[in-house]
Amino acid sequence: MNGYYDPPEPDPICWVCFGNVDHDRCICPECPTCGVHGDPSCYVGKDAGHWLVLSDAQKEQAAAIQADWDESCRREAEWIEKTQESWEILEK
Ligand SMILES: [Zn+2]
Ligand SMILES: [Zn+2]
Repeated sequence: MNGYYDPPEPDPICWVCFGNVDHDRCICPECPTCGVHGDPSCYVGKDAGHWLVLSDAQKEQAAAIQADWDESCRREAEWIEKTQESWEILEK
């Protein structure tokens, strides 16, 4: 694994609820402390001092989207492997 590759540009997603921000799928509430939506550092408790707590809806959406990702990550890994194989051929 020492080949260099540019992965496809990922969709902008919220790192808290994993909703696609472009499609208004982020369901996170606004942080009362800093006024942003879906910043994971607002959810880490006393270190950030923002104390937002994940709602069940956020957890459910994140879990559902992560399950989807597992599937697409497998496909992407296969794609990367194939790409690297063809580059190895080109580099010879
Ligand atoms: Zn979100
Ligand atoms: Zn915050």
